[in-house]
Amino acid sequence: MKIAIVSPGLYPYGALVIGGVLKDKGHKVSLFNELDARTISGMDVVGLSLTSTLHLLSTKEFISKLKFGLNPPFIIVGGPVSQAPDLLLSHLPEVDAVVIGEGEETTPELLEILDRGGDLDEVCGIAFKHEDEVIITPQNEPVNLDHRPLPFIPPDLKNQDVRTANTVIETHRGCSGNCTFCLVPKMFKHRIRSRPIDDIVEETRWFMSHGIRRVGMSLSTISQYGWESGLNESNFTRLLKEVSEVIGPMNLASPDIRVDMVSEDILRAIKDYTAGYVVFGIESGSDRLLSRMRKGITVDDIIEAVNLARKVGLRVSGSFITGYPGETDEDHEKTVDLIGELMLDDVWVNTVSPIPGTKLAEEIVKLPIKENPAFIKAENDIGRLHDLTVAESRSLDLLLTFATAAPIPIPLTDKVYSTYLKGIKAQTEEVVLCTNMIRNFYSRIT
Ligand code: SF4
Repeated sequence: MKIAIVSPGLYPYGALVIGGVLKDKGHKVSLFNELDARTISGMDVVGLSLTSTLHLLSTKEFISKLKFGLNPPFIIVGGPVSQAPDLLLSHLPEVDAVVIGEGEETTPELLEILDRGGDLDEVCGIAFKHEDEVIITPQNEPVNLDHRPLPFIPPDLKNQDVRTANTVIETHRGCSGNCTFCLVPKMFKHRIRSRPIDDIVEETRWFMSHGIRRVGMSLSTISQYGWESGLNESNFTRLLKEVSEVIGPMNLASPDIRVDMVSEDILRAIKDYTAGYVVFGIESGSDRLLSRMRKGITVDDIIEAVNLARKVGLRVSGSFITGYPGETDEDHEKTVDLIGELMLDDVWVNTVSPIPGTKLAEEIVKLPIKENPAFIKAENDIGRLHDLTVAESRSLDLLLTFATAAPIPIPLTDKVYSTYLKGIKAQTEEVVLCTNMIRNFYSRIT
């Protein structure tokens, strides 16, 4: 079959993997990172790999164009958005099937059934519409990650820049964490499966042979690689060492890590075999809010991990969330104080987004808009000056605190200030759109 895999804006790693699997099965595969119906004509199947809730809105017109052309393709959607198939099929009614969760086995099975004219309900792990009813077939078993086909690499992947890497490489799937805002626990049920080191090294060489220069390790907290009933420091170290020997430490990043999943050996391995920085998921300086987020960490854990990372010579960044339901001014002040104390090398501040399928999304659907910090106008001076919401005003506050507390303080020029403001507003705009979408949908069906 002729298959186009399309993702808006970038090539997600999952799309490369599915492309490789389908090519291995003998299909003719192409990958695209923009929504242009004219370049995708004559396909039997179009698979959309959608990673963000916003994609449910941004792909609507594209899908309609595909469907109303001559010989419309069969349209499949996969990716994290598949965790809410009812919402997805309501927003994108022209989609023929949703591959829920892991697609390596489900997608080829679905294509085989299509090829022989079988019924969709013969395929496990999908959702589709039948006479206005959403049918969800029984779940598939978790896939075997060992020795799978090499990813499909589009020629321009070498030009992609995702947090300085051209692509990530998956090292393992799953996480032992239970954060309310994250889909990983729902998708993988806390079961951590690690790929063989030889496969990861071979894949690194494969990417390099296609011009890829920099890769990031893992799609979730990296130090859980090789996890059995706890951290596996020797496997983790061997993984980084072997990949680093192939691509060079400066071209390898393994940033994302939980503060309670580190040890001196783990951090030393990151220092010795990668570009030398970590990004801790800190989220908040308030124990009360960390507990509401089910982060499973405390502020003391955060301080200890940051100090340990500094001790071994790593640069340390942190990611933070604002606008979490129930966040008080006191919680926010604690986060400001923590950023001031930690003197991080960089920060990522995000207005929390309700990803359908997460516990947080369930909570936000029930939360009245007048209590949602992403919607309420801030009553402080800076909020009134820039017409900010509470979440936006707190994000700005955190960024300004970081800029003045950083080891090399960032001069607050007009350009820096307006970049912060622009980024914050764009982010909240997305959050508001997604929140309205899921609230409208769930209010209709309850
Ligand atoms: S630690 Fe990271 S990957 Fe794990 S549940 Fe929390 S946010 Fe998700």
